[in-house]
Amino acid sequence: MPEPLLEVSNLTVDYLTGETDVRAVRDVSLTIHAGEFLAIVGESGCGKSTLLFAVAQLLSPPAELVAGKVVFKGKDMVRLSKGELRHVRWRDYSLVMQSAMNALNPMKSIGAQFKDTLTAHAKMSPEAIRQRSAEVLGLVGIDAVHLGSYPHELSGGMRQRAMIAMALLFTPQLVIMDEPTSALDVVGQRSLMSQIKQLQEQLHFAVIFVTHDMSLVSHYSDRVMVMYAGQVAEVAQTESIFNRPLHPYTKGLLDAFPSVRGPRRPLTGIPGRPPDLAHPPTGCSFHPRCSEVMPECINREPELYPLHGAEVRCLLYVEQLKDAV
Ligand code: SF4
Repeated sequence: MPEPLLEVSNLTVDYLTGETDVRAVRDVSLTIHAGEFLAIVGESGCGKSTLLFAVAQLLSPPAELVAGKVVFKGKDMVRLSKGELRHVRWRDYSLVMQSAMNALNPMKSIGAQFKDTLTAHAKMSPEAIRQRSAEVLGLVGIDAVHLGSYPHELSGGMRQRAMIAMALLFTPQLVIMDEPTSALDVVGQRSLMSQIKQLQEQLHFAVIFVTHDMSLVSHYSDRVMVMYAGQVAEVAQTESIFNRPLHPYTKGLLDAFPSVRGPRRPLTGIPGRPPDLAHPPTGCSFHPRCSEVMPECINREPELYPLHGAEVRCLLYVEQLKDAV
């Protein structure tokens, strides 16, 4: 097995609020190999975006990385200086944020913003900048004439595509995406997902894709990591997550969206709300909402157990685990 492109170990992030510190990400580990597509799913507030920001070394106060390692291409990113990080960001990994309207500068044309990014990270002639900008815009199906357009002159879908084009200016090996399709309608979402997958296959970059919508990633990701209350609840191959979900929270998420693979069925949500991370429940953090809760779940905190090629944080599988050993 080749070395992973990115290896995150035991990452823990706190929001230092002064009164009660909030542990938003707890002891999360993940690996991603070159060209792989990892989806991270969960409800709002489960820690998935904080995890992304920690991986990209973009946390700002009051969020603080209090433990863990982020090794990218063999380098511990946590120990890199700002200057060293600047060299790696955009060139080796890049980010696509949730709302292009917020991420793009409304006062500058798309071409000017591409130029700023290119000149900040490379020495290039004006002609090379123009050529590369037109090339990446072409990759996402936008005519080079729109290099002169301002963000408000583009549709929502085109703005997100322009953001993706910007993330590809240096053909990085990893593109981190934080709900990039959330501002689009369903048709726009599917079309953008197909385009991302096509580009990924063409350019062989790895993707970490954060979403609250399980159905969105079912056809595109290689693996899915489900997060709940700042922890990994389950991680498995995409097919296994959709056909044989193990964790009751994963099952609840799947039941909350129309099935894109199986027959029609009524949608059911997950009762209750995600926990207040300043005062997390005892035992299993999902126990107040779990349809399969057992008495021991209230006081015993489950570990992440390896099972059938997946990993699952649920006490339901402890007996099976003993049998498997
Ligand atoms: Fe539900 Fe218990 Fe499993 Fe937690 S450990 S998910 S409460 S069955």
